[in-house]
Amino acid sequence: MIEPRRIFCIGRNYREHVRELENETPAEPVVFMKPVACLARKGQTLRRPPYGEDLQHEAEAVVLIGKEGAAIDEAAASSYIAGISLGLDLTLRDVQKQLKAKGLPWELAKAFDQSAPIGQFIPFDDSIDLENISFKCFVNGRLRQEGNTKDMIFPIKTLIRFLSLRWRLMPGDLIYTGTPAGVGPLVSGNKITLESDLIGRFSWEMAGVAPGGI
Ligand code: MG
Repeated sequence: MIEPRRIFCIGRNYREHVRELENETPAEPVVFMKPVACLARKGQTLRRPPYGEDLQHEAEAVVLIGKEGAAIDEAAASSYIAGISLGLDLTLRDVQKQLKAKGLPWELAKAFDQSAPIGQFIPFDDSIDLENISFKCFVNGRLRQEGNTKDMIFPIKTLIRFLSLRWRLMPGDLIYTGTPAGVGPLVSGNKITLESDLIGRFSWEMAGVAPGGI
């Protein structure tokens, strides 16, 4: 696989999720980043950070960029995609609420070690409809989130256009494309499974609290 280079994350990209967190529907994509060191491959045991109370799952479709490009037209955007997977944008919700209230950056809530579990990528080709990828998130076998990329406020091609007008996209860039409604808490002993008929099925188990950095 292409070596991961950067992780772009899109916030508030599904209306029902915007509503559940009582946020405003954004006029343009909300973008933040996680360091590549946050990635946790499928099957890796996850440890919760040693701070914060409310660790939550956000299941997301993830796009892998395979070709360099800037100011990419939406019509050409799919030709820049090398692969598609599913991932988790793990979030310390209580920490995020405090940071949001103070207008502070989100790294403490979103960019801790192992905050970006990632499944395996399937190669992208034009037979894949970017605007109809369904996926689910189960915790201990119970359905928590069910989403379809057709419900995105800003579709994947629009996100590629938007990001490429601000950064030169490079092979290995990942885009976590936002989460549907149903985000919820994770505790030690939970098994989290992401599933998509198209992409596959990936699981992680939550162990206890990490003593310091994970
Ligand atoms: Mg997210």
